[in-house]
This record gives sequence, C-alpha cells and structure tokens, in this order.
Amino acid sequence: MGHKHAKIILYAIATGVVLGALLGWFSPAAGMSLKWMGDLFLTMLKMLIVPLIFAAVLSGVTALGDIRKLGRIGGLTVGYFLVTTCIAVVIGLIVVNVIQPGVGIALGDGTIPEQVASKADMGPTDILFQIVQPNLVDAAAKTNLLPLILFALLLGAALTTVGRRGAHVIEFFDGINEAMMKLVVWLMYLAPLGIFALVAARLGTAQLHGGFLAEVGAVGLHVLTVLSALSIHFVVLLLILFFVAGRGWRYLAGLLRALLTAFGTASSSATMPLTLECARQEGVDPRAVRFVIPLGTTVNMNGTALYEACAAMFIAQAYGVPLGLEHQVIIVITATLAAIGAAGIPEAGLVTMVIVLNAVGLPLEGIGLLLTVDWFLDRFRTSVNVWGDAVGAAVVGRYLPDVVDDPALEGDKL
Ligand code: ASP
Repeated sequence: MGHKHAKIILYAIATGVVLGALLGWFSPAAGMSLKWMGDLFLTMLKMLIVPLIFAAVLSGVTALGDIRKLGRIGGLTVGYFLVTTCIAVVIGLIVVNVIQPGVGIALGDGTIPEQVASKADMGPTDILFQIVQPNLVDAAAKTNLLPLILFALLLGAALTTVGRRGAHVIEFFDGINEAMMKLVVWLMYLAPLGIFALVAARLGTAQLHGGFLAEVGAVGLHVLTVLSALSIHFVVLLLILFFVAGRGWRYLAGLLRALLTAFGTASSSATMPLTLECARQEGVDPRAVRFVIPLGTTVNMNGTALYEACAAMFIAQAYGVPLGLEHQVIIVITATLAAIGAAGIPEAGLVTMVIVLNAVGLPLEGIGLLLTVDWFLDRFRTSVNVWGDAVGAAVVGRYLPDVVDDPALEGDKL
C-alpha cells in the first residue's frame, strides 16, 4: 500500500470512529443494528491471525540468518517489554495514589462477576502453562497464540540447521508471509466500515442500557485516573520512540491506522495484522517487525498492566483496605504477570486481575465495581498495548546488527 493510499485509509478510519460514535450516541438502535457488519470485519481479521503469526515468526527468526543472533533480539525484546511494562504500572500507581478515585465509592452487591468466578483461583504459574501446550491444533483452534509462537521459534531455529532442505521450507513460509501481508492490505480497505460499525454498535448498546454518561459517571474518577495514566504512558512511549528508537512523529502517524483499529476492536490480537503492516510500511527492520510484534501482541500489554494496577488500588480504596509500599511492590510484580497472561481479546484484563487481587488479599467482588465501564477503558488500554508493541519493534529494529545473510529478505527491505 502506497503512502497516499495509507493516508486516505487513515482519514476514512478516523471518520468511521467519529460517525460510529455519533450514530451510537444519537440513534442507539440503528447503531446496534450494524453489529453484524462490525463482527464480520472482526471475524475476517481473526481469520488471518493464526497463519500470519506462524509464518511471520518463522520467517522473522530464520531471517536472522545465524540462530545465535536469536539471543540478541530476544534479549532486547524481553528487556524492552519488561522495562516498559514496569514503567506503565508505576505510572498507574502514582496517578491512582494522587487522585484516590475509590475513596467513598458505594460498594456493589457483593457478587463476583461471572467471567471472573470461574477463574477465581488463577495464580502466576498458570501463565507458564499458557506458553507450552500439548496440542498445537487445539491451541490454534482457540487462537491461543503463545504456544504457536514458541513452536514457530523452535521450528525456525531447527530449520536453519538442516541445510538445503530446510531452506526450501523457509522459503515456503516466506512466501506465505508475503501473501498474508497482501491479504492484510486488502482487508485494510474494509477497516473504515468495520470500525464504524463496531463503535456504533458498542456505544449503542451502552446508550440503551442505562446511558453511557450514567455508566461512566458512576465511577467517573476511576475513568479519569485510568485515562490520565494511559495518556502519560503514551507520551513516555513517544519519548522512547524519539530518543531510543531515533524516530519521529511520522511513525506515530503511520501507526494511527492500527491504533484506531485497536480502539475499534478492543483486541490487540485482531489488530496485529494491521500493526505488522503499518510498522513494515514505516521501514522498521522486517526481522524486528516479525519477531517483536507477534510476541508483543501476546505478552507485552503496557495498557493492561497499568489498568490492573489502577483497578486494584481503586478496589482497595473502595473497600477501605490500606495498601502500603510493600503491597504496591507486589502489585507491580503481579500486574506485570497478569498483563503477560492476558490474551489480546476484549476485556481479558478484567479476568487476569484476579492474580493481582489474590496476591494482595483484595475481594474479587470488587471487580463488580468496574464492570460497567470496562468495555470503554478496554479500548484505550488496547490502543496503548498496540502502541507499546509498535514502539518496541522500532527500538529493537534500530539495534539489530545490519548483516542480512538471507537473500530472501533483500526484496523485503524497504
Ligand atoms: N483487550 C486488551 C487487548 O486486547 C486486553 C485487555 O486489557 O483486556 O490488548
């Protein structure tokens, strides 16, 4: 997709978000009647995820040429993920301690929300078992991406060691990857309509169920806290982009299509195809794009980590449970883990919050206080999640060694 087309699509998507919001607001029933259109777009995006993630990771790893370089790109990536996630949690904790949104809030009816109740005993080790799964087909069927990424990494590494016959397979996956990216570009033309419908239908639903403003107003300070903290973190990532990745505003402009799609879909996995395409179009080293973005989509969730910290403190304040510094350190660790464990799907963060609440002894019923506005905050944190991955690809891309040993990759260089 040329830059001119990309710009037109961006304007069309932005218009879609605004028109969708207006329609959902003023004519909720009409907005809701478009739900099928949004769902269709979302389903098509999801259709691409499994083959795309497998081919992208495999061809990204094999393009490193020498598998020993995996250590470097892996180290850089994991380092970036951990540092930015911790920064996000700390920002969340500072803002929530300053604003104190939970003090004086009326408590709910004391029931544990349904989606959380079944996961009530989730702990940190559960996250480990999300990475390794006995059955890849089952994992793919459930769009459980981490096991697929791990397997693609291992298979890619092995293929580079078996000579000529491995090279054929690598070339096969390179071809799949290229073709998948073509499909993404085609689908991008539908994004404005899809996102318009998704926003109209969701806002329409909120308007019909008691009204959006009433929903948000009931926990207004919580919403303000989360949005302020997310904005601060967004700017921190922008500074990292400027000073560590050595890029400018153009990168943000180039990624806006993905960020708006994240807002529209509330799912970083569904957005991943667009994130890959946008980063690649901005000229990020293809090896970094294919390695960092799939992995980041599933494990690097800055916005979710920040949200979990804010939400846990909000519940503590609402229930009058004092949490000192030592508890807040536990929140930093568990919110990071909970964000890693959250899948890139709508409102996944609400469920993994159980890990944080259990760790500091807060009542799971507290999650009930957040339910009504979670869908709304989810959209903002998903955009920050995607922004974190995109900045990560730019950072890692800058510090990869220049050597390109793989001729198949040459055509890819922008
Ligand atoms: N919806 C988020 C995502 O897909 C996850 C979450 O925080 O609920 O990135």
